[in-house]
Amino acid sequence: MSGEYDLVIVGGGISGASLLYTAAKFTDVESIALVEKESTIAALNSDRTNNSQTLHFGDIETNYSLEKAREVKEGAELLAGYLEAHDPDREMYAKRSKMVLGVGDEEVASLRRRYDEEGFGDLYSKLRPIGRGEIAELEPAVVEGRDPTTDLLALQTPDGYVVDYGATARSFVEAATEEDGVDVHTGVTVEDVTETTRGYTLTTSEGPFDCDVAVFTAGPQSLQFAKDLGYGEDVVLLPVAGSFFLADDLLDGKVYTLQMKRLPFAAVHGDADVHDPSITRFGPTAKFVPTLERGRLRTVRDFLDVFGLNLPAFISYANILADRVLFPFVLRNLIYDLPRVGRRAFLPHVRKVVPGAELEDIERATGYGGVRPQIVNTSTHSLDMGEAKIVGDDVVFNITPSPGASTCLKNAMRDVRTLMEFFDGEYAFDEAAFRADTIDNFPRADGEDEDERADAGAVPAED
Ligand SMILES: Cc1cc2nc3c(=O)[nH]c(=O)nc-3n(C[C@H](O)[C@H](O)[C@H](O)COP(=O)(O)OP(=O)(O)OC[C@H]3O[C@@H](n4cnc5c(N)ncnc54)[C@H](O)[C@@H]3O)c2cc1C
Repeated sequence: MSGEYDLVIVGGGISGASLLYTAAKFTDVESIALVEKESTIAALNSDRTNNSQTLHFGDIETNYSLEKAREVKEGAELLAGYLEAHDPDREMYAKRSKMVLGVGDEEVASLRRRYDEEGFGDLYSKLRPIGRGEIAELEPAVVEGRDPTTDLLALQTPDGYVVDYGATARSFVEAATEEDGVDVHTGVTVEDVTETTRGYTLTTSEGPFDCDVAVFTAGPQSLQFAKDLGYGEDVVLLPVAGSFFLADDLLDGKVYTLQMKRLPFAAVHGDADVHDPSITRFGPTAKFVPTLERGRLRTVRDFLDVFGLNLPAFISYANILADRVLFPFVLRNLIYDLPRVGRRAFLPHVRKVVPGAELEDIERATGYGGVRPQIVNTSTHSLDMGEAKIVGDDVVFNITPSPGASTCLKNAMRDVRTLMEFFDGEYAFDEAAFRADTIDNFPRADGEDEDERADAGAVPAED
Protein backbone atom coordinates (compact mmCIF):
# COMPACT_ATOMS: atom_id res chain seq x y z
CA MET A 1 0.00 0.00 0.00
CA SER A 2 1.19 3.53 -0.71
CA GLY A 3 -0.38 6.81 -1.61
CA GLU A 4 -0.07 10.46 -2.55
CA TYR A 5 -2.17 13.01 -0.71
CA ASP A 6 -2.47 16.74 -0.14
CA LEU A 7 -2.80 16.07 3.59
CA VAL A 8 -1.93 13.08 5.78
CA ILE A 9 -3.08 12.92 9.41
CA VAL A 10 -1.13 10.50 11.61
CA GLY A 11 -3.14 9.06 14.52
CA GLY A 12 -6.81 8.19 14.69
CA GLY A 13 -7.80 9.18 18.21
CA ILE A 14 -10.35 11.95 18.82
CA SER A 15 -7.83 14.61 17.70
CA GLY A 16 -7.06 13.03 14.31
CA ALA A 17 -10.70 12.09 13.76
CA SER A 18 -11.99 15.62 14.48
CA LEU A 19 -9.33 17.12 12.21
CA LEU A 20 -10.25 14.68 9.44
CA TYR A 21 -13.91 15.64 9.84
CA THR A 22 -13.24 19.38 9.81
CA ALA A 23 -10.89 19.23 6.83
CA ALA A 24 -13.04 16.81 4.81
CA LYS A 25 -16.38 18.51 5.43
CA PHE A 26 -15.50 22.18 5.53
CA THR A 27 -12.56 22.62 3.15
CA ASP A 28 -12.03 21.77 -0.51
CA VAL A 29 -8.70 19.99 0.08
CA GLU A 30 -8.79 17.30 -2.60
CA SER A 31 -7.11 14.28 -1.04
CA ILE A 32 -6.76 13.46 2.65
CA ALA A 33 -5.61 10.29 4.42
CA LEU A 34 -5.74 9.32 8.06
CA VAL A 35 -3.25 6.66 9.15
CA GLU A 36 -3.81 4.79 12.43
CA LYS A 37 -1.64 1.96 13.72
CA GLU A 38 -4.36 0.20 15.73
CA SER A 39 -7.03 -1.85 13.96
CA THR A 40 -9.78 0.48 15.18
CA ILE A 41 -10.28 4.22 15.54
CA ALA A 42 -9.82 5.64 19.06
CA ALA A 43 -8.40 2.49 20.62
CA LEU A 44 -6.10 4.24 23.12
CA ASN A 45 -6.62 7.37 25.24
CA SER A 46 -9.80 8.36 23.40
CA ASP A 47 -11.49 5.05 24.17
CA ARG A 48 -14.51 5.32 26.47
CA THR A 49 -12.86 3.43 29.34
CA ASN A 50 -9.50 5.19 29.24
CA ASN A 51 -10.45 8.77 30.12
CA SER A 52 -12.86 10.50 32.52
CA GLN A 53 -15.63 10.95 29.88
CA THR A 54 -15.92 14.63 30.88
CA LEU A 55 -16.58 17.48 28.50
CA HIS A 56 -14.52 20.13 30.29
CA PHE A 57 -16.15 23.57 30.13
CA GLY A 58 -13.95 25.02 32.88
CA ASP A 59 -16.95 25.83 35.07
CA ILE A 60 -16.37 23.25 37.84
CA GLU A 61 -12.65 22.57 37.34
CA THR A 62 -11.12 24.55 40.20
CA ASN A 63 -7.61 23.83 38.86
CA TYR A 64 -8.38 26.18 35.91
CA SER A 65 -7.75 29.92 36.02
CA LEU A 66 -10.42 32.16 34.47
CA GLU A 67 -8.20 32.57 31.39
CA LYS A 68 -7.82 28.82 30.94
CA ALA A 69 -11.55 28.32 31.57
CA ARG A 70 -12.40 30.86 28.86
CA GLU A 71 -10.10 29.03 26.47
CA VAL A 72 -11.58 25.60 27.19
CA LYS A 73 -15.20 26.84 27.16
CA GLU A 74 -15.32 27.53 23.45
CA GLY A 75 -13.81 24.11 22.72
CA ALA A 76 -16.45 22.40 24.86
CA GLU A 77 -19.26 24.37 23.21
CA LEU A 78 -18.03 23.38 19.74
CA LEU A 79 -18.16 19.69 20.65
CA ALA A 80 -21.40 19.95 22.64
CA GLY A 81 -22.97 21.68 19.63
CA TYR A 82 -21.78 18.87 17.36
CA LEU A 83 -23.24 16.24 19.71
CA GLU A 84 -26.56 18.09 20.06
CA ALA A 85 -26.90 18.33 16.27
CA HIS A 86 -25.67 14.89 15.24
CA ASP A 87 -26.76 12.59 18.04
CA PRO A 88 -30.48 13.16 18.76
CA ASP A 89 -30.77 9.76 20.46
CA ARG A 90 -27.77 10.45 22.70
CA GLU A 91 -25.87 7.33 21.75
CA MET A 92 -22.51 9.09 22.09
CA TYR A 93 -23.20 11.16 25.17
CA ALA A 94 -25.43 11.75 28.18
CA LYS A 95 -26.42 15.10 29.67
CA ARG A 96 -26.69 15.20 33.44
CA SER A 97 -26.16 17.46 36.43
CA LYS A 98 -22.59 18.45 37.21
CA MET A 99 -21.23 20.15 40.33
CA VAL A 100 -18.10 21.00 42.28
CA LEU A 101 -18.56 20.42 45.99
CA GLY A 102 -17.12 22.57 48.78
CA VAL A 103 -17.04 21.03 52.27
CA GLY A 104 -16.31 23.10 55.39
CA ASP A 105 -15.85 26.87 55.89
CA GLU A 106 -12.66 27.24 53.89
CA GLU A 107 -13.79 25.36 50.77
CA VAL A 108 -17.22 27.00 50.84
CA ALA A 109 -15.63 30.47 51.05
CA SER A 110 -13.28 29.59 48.21
CA LEU A 111 -16.18 28.49 45.97
CA ARG A 112 -18.14 31.65 46.82
CA ARG A 113 -15.15 33.81 45.88
CA ARG A 114 -14.72 31.91 42.64
CA TYR A 115 -18.35 32.43 41.74
CA ASP A 116 -18.93 36.01 42.98
CA GLU A 117 -15.56 37.71 42.67
CA GLU A 118 -13.29 35.80 40.31
CA GLY A 119 -15.61 35.98 37.31
CA PHE A 120 -16.83 32.39 37.04
CA GLY A 121 -20.43 33.30 37.87
CA ASP A 122 -20.42 35.84 35.03
CA LEU A 123 -18.69 33.60 32.50
CA TYR A 124 -21.01 30.62 33.01
CA SER A 125 -24.61 31.76 32.94
CA LYS A 126 -26.01 28.31 33.80
CA LEU A 127 -23.70 27.80 36.81
CA ARG A 128 -25.33 28.52 40.19
CA PRO A 129 -24.49 28.07 43.86
CA ILE A 130 -26.68 25.53 45.67
CA GLY A 131 -26.85 24.57 49.33
CA ARG A 132 -27.23 21.33 51.26
CA GLY A 133 -30.96 20.88 50.48
CA GLU A 134 -30.59 21.09 46.72
CA ILE A 135 -27.40 19.04 46.73
CA ALA A 136 -29.32 16.32 48.59
CA GLU A 137 -32.11 16.42 46.01
CA LEU A 138 -29.71 16.03 43.09
CA GLU A 139 -27.17 13.71 44.71
CA PRO A 140 -28.54 12.13 47.91
CA ALA A 141 -25.42 10.02 48.54
CA VAL A 142 -23.26 13.17 48.70
CA VAL A 143 -25.14 14.43 51.75
CA GLU A 144 -26.13 11.19 53.53
CA GLY A 145 -23.82 10.43 56.44
CA ARG A 146 -22.22 13.89 56.48
CA ASP A 147 -21.96 15.86 59.72
CA PRO A 148 -25.04 18.16 59.57
CA THR A 149 -23.09 21.03 61.15
CA THR A 150 -20.48 21.09 58.35
CA ASP A 151 -20.99 23.86 55.79
CA LEU A 152 -21.76 22.59 52.27
CA LEU A 153 -21.92 24.52 49.02
CA ALA A 154 -21.79 23.39 45.41
CA LEU A 155 -21.54 25.21 42.09
CA GLN A 156 -23.93 23.28 39.88
CA THR A 157 -24.88 23.34 36.20
CA PRO A 158 -27.10 21.25 33.93
CA ASP A 159 -24.31 21.31 31.28
CA GLY A 160 -22.85 18.00 32.46
CA TYR A 161 -22.02 16.38 29.13
CA VAL A 162 -20.68 12.86 29.69
CA VAL A 163 -19.04 11.81 26.44
CA ASP A 164 -18.02 8.54 24.83
CA TYR A 165 -15.06 10.05 23.00
CA GLY A 166 -14.38 6.79 21.15
CA ALA A 167 -17.86 6.71 19.63
CA THR A 168 -17.59 10.42 18.85
CA ALA A 169 -14.27 9.87 17.05
CA ARG A 170 -15.81 7.08 15.01
CA SER A 171 -18.75 9.32 14.08
CA PHE A 172 -16.30 11.96 12.81
CA VAL A 173 -14.49 9.38 10.67
CA GLU A 174 -17.71 7.88 9.32
CA ALA A 175 -18.98 11.31 8.26
CA ALA A 176 -15.62 12.31 6.73
CA THR A 177 -15.39 9.18 4.59
CA GLU A 178 -18.68 10.11 2.91
CA GLU A 179 -16.66 12.77 1.10
CA ASP A 180 -14.64 12.11 -2.07
CA GLY A 181 -10.87 11.88 -1.74
CA VAL A 182 -10.81 10.73 1.89
CA ASP A 183 -9.01 7.48 2.80
CA VAL A 184 -8.72 5.96 6.26
CA HIS A 185 -5.97 3.39 6.79
CA THR A 186 -6.18 1.48 10.06
CA GLY A 187 -3.61 -1.12 11.12
CA VAL A 188 -0.87 0.94 9.44
CA THR A 189 2.03 2.23 11.56
CA VAL A 190 4.00 5.31 10.57
CA GLU A 191 7.62 4.38 11.22
CA ASP A 192 9.52 7.38 9.94
CA VAL A 193 9.06 10.83 8.43
CA THR A 194 11.39 12.63 6.02
CA GLU A 195 11.15 16.04 4.41
CA THR A 196 11.00 16.07 0.59
CA THR A 197 10.81 18.77 -2.08
CA ARG A 198 7.06 18.20 -2.24
CA GLY A 199 6.43 18.05 1.51
CA TYR A 200 6.89 14.83 3.47
CA THR A 201 7.28 11.10 2.93
CA LEU A 202 5.91 8.93 5.70
CA THR A 203 7.42 5.48 5.79
CA THR A 204 4.79 3.08 7.08
CA SER A 205 4.48 -0.62 7.81
CA GLU A 206 2.54 -0.86 4.52
CA GLY A 207 4.68 1.32 2.23
CA PRO A 208 5.37 5.04 1.71
CA PHE A 209 2.83 7.86 1.80
CA ASP A 210 3.77 11.15 0.14
CA CYS A 211 2.03 14.38 1.07
CA ASP A 212 2.27 18.16 0.83
CA VAL A 213 1.29 18.67 4.43
CA ALA A 214 1.30 16.37 7.49
CA VAL A 215 -0.40 16.69 10.87
CA PHE A 216 0.64 14.41 13.72
CA THR A 217 -2.18 13.72 16.15
CA ALA A 218 -0.42 10.66 17.52
CA GLY A 219 -0.58 11.57 21.23
CA PRO A 220 2.85 11.35 22.89
CA GLN A 221 4.34 9.85 19.72
CA SER A 222 3.76 13.22 18.00
CA LEU A 223 6.73 14.54 19.97
CA GLN A 224 8.94 11.69 18.76
CA PHE A 225 8.21 12.63 15.14
CA ALA A 226 8.68 16.33 15.93
CA LYS A 227 12.11 15.64 17.39
CA ASP A 228 13.02 13.49 14.37
CA LEU A 229 12.43 16.58 12.21
CA GLY A 230 14.32 18.90 14.58
CA TYR A 231 11.34 20.50 16.35
CA GLY A 232 10.32 20.56 20.01
CA GLU A 233 13.84 20.91 21.37
CA ASP A 234 12.72 22.43 24.66
CA VAL A 235 9.85 19.99 25.24
CA VAL A 236 10.01 16.59 26.94
CA LEU A 237 7.23 14.45 28.35
CA LEU A 238 6.21 13.00 31.66
CA PRO A 239 3.65 10.23 31.05
CA VAL A 240 1.04 10.11 33.81
CA ALA A 241 -1.27 7.09 33.90
CA GLY A 242 -4.77 7.38 35.34
CA SER A 243 -6.78 4.53 36.85
CA PHE A 244 -10.39 4.39 38.00
CA PHE A 245 -12.52 2.66 40.63
CA LEU A 246 -16.11 1.52 40.07
CA ALA A 247 -19.13 1.34 42.38
CA ASP A 248 -22.82 0.57 42.02
CA ASP A 249 -25.21 3.46 41.54
CA LEU A 250 -23.83 6.03 44.00
CA LEU A 251 -24.20 9.17 41.86
CA ASP A 252 -26.68 10.43 39.26
CA GLY A 253 -24.46 13.13 37.72
CA LYS A 254 -20.88 14.32 38.03
CA VAL A 255 -19.44 15.51 41.35
CA TYR A 256 -16.01 17.14 41.50
CA THR A 257 -14.12 17.83 44.68
CA LEU A 258 -12.19 21.05 45.17
CA GLN A 259 -8.72 21.13 43.69
CA MET A 260 -5.87 20.72 46.18
CA LYS A 261 -3.81 23.91 46.02
CA ARG A 262 -0.69 23.84 43.78
CA LEU A 263 -1.50 20.39 42.43
CA PRO A 264 -1.49 20.41 38.64
CA PHE A 265 -3.82 17.43 38.14
CA ALA A 266 -7.60 17.44 38.24
CA ALA A 267 -9.15 16.59 41.57
CA VAL A 268 -10.68 13.14 41.95
CA HIS A 269 -14.30 13.09 40.89
CA GLY A 270 -17.19 10.67 40.64
CA ASP A 271 -19.78 10.27 37.93
CA ALA A 272 -22.20 7.85 36.34
CA ASP A 273 -20.99 5.91 33.27
CA VAL A 274 -21.97 7.47 29.95
CA HIS A 275 -23.88 4.38 28.78
CA ASP A 276 -24.86 2.75 32.08
CA PRO A 277 -25.92 5.23 34.78
CA SER A 278 -26.03 2.44 37.37
CA ILE A 279 -22.22 2.32 37.36
CA THR A 280 -20.41 5.12 39.21
CA ARG A 281 -16.80 5.80 38.25
CA PHE A 282 -14.27 7.47 40.58
CA GLY A 283 -10.88 8.77 39.57
CA PRO A 284 -8.59 9.29 37.85
CA THR A 285 -5.44 8.61 39.79
CA ALA A 286 -2.15 10.11 38.56
CA LYS A 287 0.83 7.75 38.44
CA PHE A 288 4.07 8.43 36.58
CA VAL A 289 4.87 5.50 34.26
CA PRO A 290 7.82 4.75 31.96
CA THR A 291 5.63 3.89 28.94
CA LEU A 292 3.75 5.93 26.33
CA GLU A 293 0.84 3.51 26.16
CA ARG A 294 -0.84 1.92 29.14
CA GLY A 295 0.52 -1.54 29.98
CA ARG A 296 2.53 -1.81 26.73
CA LEU A 297 6.12 -2.51 27.71
CA ARG A 298 7.27 -2.19 24.11
CA THR A 299 6.68 1.56 24.41
CA VAL A 300 9.39 1.92 27.09
CA ARG A 301 11.88 2.70 24.30
CA ASP A 302 9.58 5.38 22.90
CA PHE A 303 9.26 6.77 26.41
CA LEU A 304 13.06 7.13 26.61
CA ASP A 305 12.91 9.15 23.35
CA VAL A 306 10.48 11.68 24.79
CA PHE A 307 11.71 11.59 28.41
CA GLY A 308 14.78 13.51 27.34
CA LEU A 309 17.96 11.94 28.67
CA ASN A 310 19.91 15.20 28.93
CA LEU A 311 20.86 17.70 31.62
CA PRO A 312 18.12 20.33 31.08
CA ALA A 313 15.52 17.54 31.12
CA PHE A 314 16.88 16.05 34.37
CA ILE A 315 17.00 19.49 36.00
CA SER A 316 13.39 20.04 34.94
CA TYR A 317 12.19 16.70 36.33
CA ALA A 318 14.08 17.30 39.59
CA ASN A 319 12.61 20.78 39.88
CA ILE A 320 9.07 19.52 39.30
CA LEU A 321 9.31 16.55 41.65
CA ALA A 322 11.01 18.53 44.41
CA ASP A 323 7.74 20.39 44.95
CA ARG A 324 6.60 19.61 48.48
CA VAL A 325 2.98 19.13 47.39
CA LEU A 326 3.65 17.19 44.21
CA PHE A 327 6.22 14.74 45.57
CA PRO A 328 4.03 13.13 48.28
CA PHE A 329 1.17 13.13 45.79
CA VAL A 330 3.31 11.19 43.29
CA LEU A 331 4.28 8.65 45.95
CA ARG A 332 0.68 8.19 47.11
CA ASN A 333 -0.47 7.60 43.56
CA LEU A 334 1.94 4.68 43.18
CA ILE A 335 -0.10 2.81 45.76
CA TYR A 336 -3.60 2.99 44.25
CA ASP A 337 -2.90 0.36 41.57
CA LEU A 338 -1.62 -2.21 44.07
CA PRO A 339 -3.92 -5.15 44.81
CA ARG A 340 -5.79 -4.90 48.16
CA VAL A 341 -3.94 -1.89 49.65
CA GLY A 342 -4.73 0.26 46.59
CA ARG A 343 -8.47 0.12 47.14
CA ARG A 344 -8.13 0.91 50.84
CA ALA A 345 -5.78 3.82 50.13
CA PHE A 346 -8.17 5.26 47.55
CA LEU A 347 -11.31 5.00 49.72
CA PRO A 348 -10.83 8.43 51.42
CA HIS A 349 -11.05 10.09 47.96
CA VAL A 350 -14.35 8.35 47.32
CA ARG A 351 -15.59 9.36 50.77
CA LYS A 352 -14.86 13.01 50.03
CA VAL A 353 -17.66 12.69 47.49
CA VAL A 354 -19.81 9.94 49.04
CA PRO A 355 -19.15 9.87 52.82
CA GLY A 356 -21.08 6.64 53.38
CA ALA A 357 -19.06 4.57 50.88
CA GLU A 358 -17.54 1.37 52.31
CA LEU A 359 -14.49 -0.56 51.14
CA GLU A 360 -16.61 -3.32 49.65
CA ASP A 361 -18.55 -0.75 47.60
CA ILE A 362 -15.59 -0.01 45.31
CA GLU A 363 -13.43 -2.12 43.03
CA ARG A 364 -10.53 -1.28 40.70
CA ALA A 365 -11.74 -0.78 37.15
CA THR A 366 -9.63 -3.45 35.49
CA GLY A 367 -8.51 -2.54 31.99
CA TYR A 368 -9.59 1.11 32.38
CA GLY A 369 -7.29 4.11 32.16
CA GLY A 370 -4.92 5.72 29.69
CA VAL A 371 -1.75 7.80 29.85
CA ARG A 372 -1.62 11.61 29.84
CA PRO A 373 1.52 12.88 28.09
CA GLN A 374 2.23 15.85 30.39
CA ILE A 375 4.42 18.50 28.83
CA VAL A 376 7.66 19.54 30.54
CA ASN A 377 9.27 22.76 29.38
CA THR A 378 13.04 22.39 29.71
CA SER A 379 13.62 26.15 29.30
CA THR A 380 11.47 27.11 32.28
CA HIS A 381 12.04 23.72 34.04
CA SER A 382 8.33 23.50 34.69
CA LEU A 383 5.28 21.37 33.96
CA ASP A 384 3.02 22.99 31.33
CA MET A 385 -0.52 21.83 31.90
CA GLY A 386 -2.76 21.26 28.90
CA GLU A 387 -1.98 20.55 25.30
CA ALA A 388 1.03 21.45 23.17
CA LYS A 389 1.03 22.34 19.52
CA ILE A 390 4.25 22.63 17.53
CA VAL A 391 3.94 24.22 14.11
CA GLY A 392 6.73 23.68 11.59
CA ASP A 393 7.15 23.95 7.82
CA ASP A 394 3.99 22.41 6.38
CA VAL A 395 3.71 20.21 9.45
CA VAL A 396 1.87 20.37 12.79
CA PHE A 397 2.41 18.19 15.88
CA ASN A 398 -0.30 17.91 18.55
CA ILE A 399 0.45 16.47 21.98
CA THR A 400 -2.75 16.14 23.94
CA PRO A 401 -3.08 15.47 27.66
CA SER A 402 -6.40 16.45 29.27
CA PRO A 403 -8.54 18.31 28.24
CA GLY A 404 -7.49 17.30 24.72
CA ALA A 405 -10.67 15.36 24.03
CA SER A 406 -12.89 18.29 25.09
CA THR A 407 -11.02 20.72 22.87
CA CYS A 408 -10.65 18.40 19.85
CA LEU A 409 -12.80 20.51 17.51
CA LYS A 410 -11.21 23.76 18.61
CA ASN A 411 -7.79 22.26 17.94
CA ALA A 412 -9.04 20.99 14.59
CA MET A 413 -10.37 24.44 13.73
CA ARG A 414 -7.02 26.03 14.53
CA ASP A 415 -5.13 23.39 12.61
CA VAL A 416 -7.32 23.82 9.56
CA ARG A 417 -6.68 27.58 9.64
CA THR A 418 -2.96 26.81 9.74
CA LEU A 419 -3.31 24.28 6.91
CA MET A 420 -4.98 26.89 4.74
CA GLU A 421 -1.88 29.07 5.20
CA PHE A 422 0.34 26.10 4.31
CA PHE A 423 -1.66 25.57 1.11
CA ASP A 424 -1.21 29.25 0.34
CA GLY A 425 -4.66 30.08 -0.98
CA GLU A 426 -5.09 26.88 -3.00
CA TYR A 427 -7.92 25.72 -0.71
CA ALA A 428 -10.42 27.46 1.57
CA PHE A 429 -11.99 26.74 4.98
CA ASP A 430 -15.72 27.47 5.25
CA GLU A 431 -15.57 28.43 8.90
CA ALA A 432 -19.14 29.75 8.97
CA ALA A 433 -20.42 26.31 7.88
CA PHE A 434 -18.18 24.65 10.48
CA ARG A 435 -19.64 26.84 13.22
CA ALA A 436 -23.20 26.25 11.96
CA ASP A 437 -22.55 22.50 12.23
CA THR A 438 -21.05 22.74 15.72
CA ILE A 439 -21.09 25.62 18.18
CA ASP A 440 -24.26 27.23 16.80
CA ASN A 441 -26.20 24.19 18.04
CA PHE A 442 -25.03 24.59 21.62
CA PRO A 443 -28.09 25.45 23.76
CA ARG A 444 -27.58 28.78 25.54
CA ALA A 445 -29.26 30.19 28.62
CA ASP A 446 -31.99 32.77 28.03
CA GLY A 447 -30.47 36.18 27.54
CA GLU A 448 -26.92 34.87 27.25
CA ASP A 449 -24.73 37.67 26.01
CA GLU A 450 -24.44 37.50 22.22
CA ASP A 451 -21.30 39.64 22.37
CA GLU A 452 -19.63 36.95 24.42
CA ARG A 453 -20.40 34.49 21.62
CA ALA A 454 -18.96 36.83 19.04
CA ASP A 455 -15.80 37.27 21.12
CA ALA A 456 -15.50 33.52 21.51
CA GLY A 457 -15.62 33.18 17.74
CA ALA A 458 -12.84 35.66 17.32
CA VAL A 459 -10.10 33.64 19.00
CA PRO A 460 -7.18 33.98 16.62
CA ALA A 461 -5.21 31.04 15.31
CA GLU A 462 -2.46 30.43 17.84
CA ASP A 463 1.19 29.62 17.52
C1 LIG B 1 -7.00 9.00 32.84
C2 LIG B 1 -7.34 10.04 31.83
C3 LIG B 1 -8.48 10.82 31.98
C4 LIG B 1 -8.79 11.78 31.02
N1 LIG B 1 -9.98 12.45 31.13
C5 LIG B 1 -10.33 13.34 30.17
C6 LIG B 1 -11.61 13.97 30.22
O1 LIG B 1 -12.44 13.67 31.06
N2 LIG B 1 -11.88 14.90 29.29
C7 LIG B 1 -10.99 15.25 28.31
O2 LIG B 1 -11.27 16.14 27.51
N3 LIG B 1 -9.78 14.63 28.22
C8 LIG B 1 -9.46 13.67 29.11
N4 LIG B 1 -8.27 13.01 29.01
C9 LIG B 1 -7.39 13.32 27.90
C10 LIG B 1 -7.91 12.69 26.62
O3 LIG B 1 -8.15 11.32 26.81
C11 LIG B 1 -6.88 12.93 25.53
O4 LIG B 1 -6.57 14.31 25.48
C12 LIG B 1 -7.40 12.52 24.17
O5 LIG B 1 -7.94 11.21 24.19
C13 LIG B 1 -6.25 12.61 23.19
O6 LIG B 1 -6.71 12.23 21.93
P1 LIG B 1 -5.67 12.06 20.77
O7 LIG B 1 -6.44 11.67 19.58
O8 LIG B 1 -4.83 13.28 20.67
O9 LIG B 1 -4.69 10.91 21.27
P2 LIG B 1 -4.96 9.35 21.40
O10 LIG B 1 -6.36 9.04 21.73
O11 LIG B 1 -3.90 8.84 22.28
O12 LIG B 1 -4.74 8.86 19.92
C14 LIG B 1 -3.47 8.88 19.30
C15 LIG B 1 -3.53 7.84 18.22
O13 LIG B 1 -2.32 7.89 17.46
C16 LIG B 1 -1.99 6.57 17.11
N5 LIG B 1 -0.58 6.50 16.79
C17 LIG B 1 0.47 6.73 17.63
N6 LIG B 1 1.63 6.51 16.98
C18 LIG B 1 1.30 6.17 15.71
C19 LIG B 1 2.09 5.83 14.58
N7 LIG B 1 3.41 5.81 14.63
N8 LIG B 1 1.45 5.50 13.43
C20 LIG B 1 0.07 5.52 13.36
N9 LIG B 1 -0.70 5.84 14.43
C21 LIG B 1 -0.10 6.17 15.58
C22 LIG B 1 -2.35 5.77 18.35
O14 LIG B 1 -2.52 4.40 18.06
C23 LIG B 1 -3.64 6.44 18.79
O15 LIG B 1 -4.79 5.81 18.27
C24 LIG B 1 -7.93 12.01 29.93
C25 LIG B 1 -6.81 11.21 29.76
C26 LIG B 1 -6.52 10.21 30.69
C27 LIG B 1 -5.35 9.34 30.46
